[in-house]
Amino acid sequence: MGIVVQKFGGTSVANTEKLFMVCNHIIAEKEKGNKVVVVVSAQGKTTDDLIRQEKEINEKASLREHDVLVSVGEQITIAKLSMCLEKLGHNAISLTGWQVPIFTNNIHGEALIDYIDIERIERELNNGNIVIVAGFQGIDEKNDITTLGRGGSDTTGVALAVALRADKCDIYTDVDGVYTSDPNKVDKTKRIKSISYDEMLELASAGAKVLHNRCVEIAKKHCLPISVRSTFKPEDEGTRIINKTEYLEGSTVTGVTKQSNNSKIAVIGKNNQIGRLYKVFKLLANNNINIDMIAQAAGEDIIKSVSFSIQDKDLNKALEVLENNKEELQIHEVKHYSNLAKVSIVGLGMMNNPGVAAKMFETLYDENIEIKMVSTSEIKVSVLVEEEQSEKAVSSIHKQFII
Ligand code: ASP
Ligand code: MG
Repeated sequence: MGIVVQKFGGTSVANTEKLFMVCNHIIAEKEKGNKVVVVVSAQGKTTDDLIRQEKEINEKASLREHDVLVSVGEQITIAKLSMCLEKLGHNAISLTGWQVPIFTNNIHGEALIDYIDIERIERELNNGNIVIVAGFQGIDEKNDITTLGRGGSDTTGVALAVALRADKCDIYTDVDGVYTSDPNKVDKTKRIKSISYDEMLELASAGAKVLHNRCVEIAKKHCLPISVRSTFKPEDEGTRIINKTEYLEGSTVTGVTKQSNNSKIAVIGKNNQIGRLYKVFKLLANNNINIDMIAQAAGEDIIKSVSFSIQDKDLNKALEVLENNKEELQIHEVKHYSNLAKVSIVGLGMMNNPGVAAKMFETLYDENIEIKMVSTSEIKVSVLVEEEQSEKAVSSIHKQFII
């Protein structure tokens, strides 16, 4: 008899009817002879509502009180779900993050899990209970409530599965898996049957929003298989995220994705200067500005100018910081471009297949789409293009590589 962790997201537990649907999945797993631990999110838009109420009171509320407030959403779900199971004649017990306890650091609003004490959960499982745990929350060394950041219940689920040495963690949501691209925007997307941890991490950082990235990192570190499945289509297997180092099936590209809200900054120096690159990026890092792609000028000017991409939200701050240090950095001019999107292809199969980037560039050339910047990793090629051309870019690349 193994331990199985099931995680249900906000849309899966949005109302009483759905809570009872969730019970079917839990009971089915229990009836296979497994011990079942369930992690849940807040119902529907509860977390957004709580944040709205917070802002009504105080735009600058402390993060400590923010965590006390937003953790309430998950507490409501665990109680209701346990009540549903009780009503169906099953023994269930709800536990908040601090009752487990799930210990985190003290970074309120973005806490990282340090350690999970599994004794209580094991005792409850051995007593025949289904254990229902509140996702997204923990407790720090001062006994203060913390939360793990938006979408953090996925991370609770996977971290618990690792701590309990569970056989697997099934993440139930309102989509039935991970697709080769956004099915709402791109024609003929296919559900991916299995994908490696690395591909999933790259897809998520390139804009796919299926799972909390931290949960994939934890699963990878401990080789825990996770599945993304639909609560509402129980017959579907969904997508398995597993340890794969070799690509065995067909195509070289596993997924095509896009991330909007990118900006590009070009810093043009007054002269060639060794160390400008270092100084510019250190300054931006000190101001907490995340850089994504980087491109240097060519030839003799390689140490004169540099361009890089950042998220739109950081644009004003980056421009201000560079402007304020123009003299010191010997900068002649700072240019910027907004309304850009990053379009990426991801696939383990790229590693051993030359020409993937060339084919991507050719597809964009055929569509008359200008590439503003490029970055690559072993299993990803990303390009920056105009936002208004980005959907066409994704569709044509998807057609070229996947259909
Ligand atoms: N309820 C939290 C949120 O909405 C955590 C989660 O759903 O994973 O972000
Ligand atoms: Mg989520």
